[in-house]
Amino acid sequence: MVKMDFEQARNRMVEHQIIARGISDPLVIKAMRKVPRHLFVDEGLRSRAYDDYPLPISYGQTISQPYIVALMTEALNLKGNEKFLEIGTGSGYQSAVLAEIVDTVYSVERIPGLAKKSREILDSLGYHNVIIKVGDGTYGWKDKAPFDGILVTAAAPSIPEPLLEQLKDGGRLIIPVGDVFSQDLILVVREGNRFKKSSYGGVRFVKLIGAFGWKEE
Ligand code: SAM
Repeated sequence: MVKMDFEQARNRMVEHQIIARGISDPLVIKAMRKVPRHLFVDEGLRSRAYDDYPLPISYGQTISQPYIVALMTEALNLKGNEKFLEIGTGSGYQSAVLAEIVDTVYSVERIPGLAKKSREILDSLGYHNVIIKVGDGTYGWKDKAPFDGILVTAAAPSIPEPLLEQLKDGGRLIIPVGDVFSQDLILVVREGNRFKKSSYGGVRFVKLIGAFGWKEE
């Protein structure tokens, strides 16, 4: 069997899926070039890790399409010194991309098995600035708030109130909002007690399940 050159595949992904589609933030591009996405998926899926779509991880969840990871990260306008909150650790890939850019990533995952698996891979790659907790991320992470930025990697019926409360003045929150079949990617920028919203287009994510999300079936 021919051995795949993952670094080459990753650079091709960045050129064709990320830069060609208009992502231009150098911090985001550098992070996407660096994080070894193939190590965040099961061994049998590694050859497809740099393809232009989401892939299954375990427990019926997904690792998001590379372009969507880049789009959401760029929308946050990160500078490098942020205290950041991610809801939905999943495979840990998006956490690693954020950890390449910001100071500290607090990440909440509701499925213990995914939190454990992502912790292992993030540790093995030296991402010790990602702090993971198991729980319902729709409550945010009150003890560590306020946050400079918040990213939600699962689809919500509406924006969870605790996340708005835990956003710093001037901070940014990005979240898919809609029904279970399709959502709008919404960017919220906090200005005092005002929350300015704009849309980054249509997406499809798995459900955000929790007190301020969808009910578990
Ligand atoms: N960013 C991830 C990655 O790079 O692999 C993809 C995350 S996946 C699309 C969405 C994740 O959100 C799943 O792992 C799911 O278990 C998690 N999730 C759903 N509802 C949640 C909640 N209320 N709190 C925390 N995690 C939640």
